[in-house]
Amino acid sequence: MVTRMSKLFLRTLREDPVDAEVASHRLLVRAGYIRRAAPGIYTWLPLGLKVLRKVEGIIREEMDAMGAQEVHFPALLPREPYEATNRWTEYGEGLFRLQDRKGADYLLAPTHEEMFTLLVKDLFSSYKDLPLSLYQIQNKYRDEARPRAGLLRGREFIMKDSYSFDVDDAGLEASYAAHRAAYLKIFARLGLEVVPVSATAGAMGGSRSEEFLHPTDIGEDTFVRSAGGYAANVEAVTTVVPADIDFTDAPPARVLDTPDTPTIDTLVAAANAVAARGEADGGPWTASDTLKNVVLVVTLPTLERQVVVIGVPGDRAIDLKRVEATIGEFLPIGGELRIEAAGESDLAKHPLLVKGYIGPGLTTEHAVLGLEGSTKLMYLVDPRVVAGSSWITGANTAGKHVFGLVAGRDFGWDGVIESTEVRAGDPAPDGSGPLETARGIEMGHIFALGRKYAAALDLKVLDQNGKQVVVTMGSYGVGVTRAVAALAESNHDDKGLIWPRTVAPADVHVVAVGRGEEIFETAERIAAELEAAGLDVILDDRPKVSPGVKFGDAELLGVPTIVAVGRGLVDGVVEIKDRRSGVAENVAVDAAVTYVVTASRSQ
Ligand code: ATP
Ligand code: MG
Repeated sequence: MVTRMSKLFLRTLREDPVDAEVASHRLLVRAGYIRRAAPGIYTWLPLGLKVLRKVEGIIREEMDAMGAQEVHFPALLPREPYEATNRWTEYGEGLFRLQDRKGADYLLAPTHEEMFTLLVKDLFSSYKDLPLSLYQIQNKYRDEARPRAGLLRGREFIMKDSYSFDVDDAGLEASYAAHRAAYLKIFARLGLEVVPVSATAGAMGGSRSEEFLHPTDIGEDTFVRSAGGYAANVEAVTTVVPADIDFTDAPPARVLDTPDTPTIDTLVAAANAVAARGEADGGPWTASDTLKNVVLVVTLPTLERQVVVIGVPGDRAIDLKRVEATIGEFLPIGGELRIEAAGESDLAKHPLLVKGYIGPGLTTEHAVLGLEGSTKLMYLVDPRVVAGSSWITGANTAGKHVFGLVAGRDFGWDGVIESTEVRAGDPAPDGSGPLETARGIEMGHIFALGRKYAAALDLKVLDQNGKQVVVTMGSYGVGVTRAVAALAESNHDDKGLIWPRTVAPADVHVVAVGRGEEIFETAERIAAELEAAGLDVILDDRPKVSPGVKFGDAELLGVPTIVAVGRGLVDGVVEIKDRRSGVAENVAVDAAVTYVVTASRSQ
């Protein structure tokens, strides 16, 4: 088909939109692919829609090829199914909730596990009906705390979500593997580099989960990899735990004066001064010999500000995202978590917590922190706090620290938690070498959900022995609109977009440059011949637009091949330019169509 610039519903912009922080956002708006309708909510214009449809098409083909079947659910859904799985509440502020005229509760679906589960329950009842994989490509709604970067984090966005249903664990394993393979094909065809990384299952529950991250500095996810092939989202990295230490001969702990040492640096300096004066055995010490006790506040939709204390080696910082991913197992209820450092008012409610001098305490066999007053404070420790490890830590009195406080002898804890930052150089948990860190955008996510949703919604089938068994499920998502943004992000230069051929809004952009009937007629003829050869063509046939503007627009729009029909005609040539390499060649008018067709078939 030939799309005429003279008729196209398009206004390219010379100025960057003021709210755009990243290149993809800037360029997609400037090139007239999308327009903002509200924060995190975008309208698709004709060229944008073409790219979107191509991305969807590739995803659809690969999902069909793996045997998944397409369905389409409403986005507007009743409350009850989400109540049954508790997600109506647990989703917290991220869920768009609304009411109909009778006052009944509805939501705009953030993801559709419940509905797919109920649909299968509605229609299927035997193991003979399984395995089954269903998918849809559909709008999702999430009231993101920080919608950002245009399509990358929207409040309305398109997701391909699929769900697998199996009668047993081996079946789920196979469905999961099939999705994983399909995802790798999808991203390869899109021309989007991805790294599959181990992830935490988080609020979704389930046993196994991987994310497909597109490496880029503007990504919001941090992941690590080792030369030996380990790759994980930082949230999922586990610490290599040192062996327990025999503490039979360890000297008793001593409380010593360490005035004015509210920080780890001042503490280490004071501790070494104390040792130098012969008042304490041991040393010299570094930050990793100290136990830092960090006070955090956890909030859930149904839990008000709960104070939790975490003890970590003093040289390690807390990573709140890691805490968010791991602390759920220590809490009585689930839901969207908020974690923050405790403020002055939180500390004021717990007078035994002396800022800068907090420690697990000496006085009882259990953590003092765990027994504070009548309200028990939860005390968790880093995995490096193994039995027998000896620490310098706060004595719960201003200006005093305890030296030689031995874990498992002098203090205990309520649980062990992964909470500290993962650093470059840390060992990979599988022994495959030191870790490197990188940033990425999450393009897809696959979960082996297990039986959580099926059990909550009572999806059972009869197995071979005529027994009712709960179905086991997987859930799999690809961010479709996010993929368009990620493609724009990794395929542009300072002049504009540079689409990979597989998703470009057209195969070729023919520009009539200058004046004169012959130029316009030749451009028309070449466009028509390219169309006849099966290519999608944009033809810049605007009569009174300067060559500079036309070239500028062609480079901004980012179609892979640009044919300029202009002054060269007197010599019988047109200029054909590859948008990516920038290489331009003069090609005889009669050879132009063949040249472009050949170029468009190469990658
Ligand atoms: P994120 O960590 O980026 O918030 P998520 O883990 O909440 O994503 P999933 O529930 O796993 O997302 O959704 C599946 C896919 O949908 C993600 O891998 C991502 O590509 C896409 N996606 C999720 N949230 C958004 C959003 N707000 N805007 C655009 N795409 C999104
Ligand atoms: Mg995810």
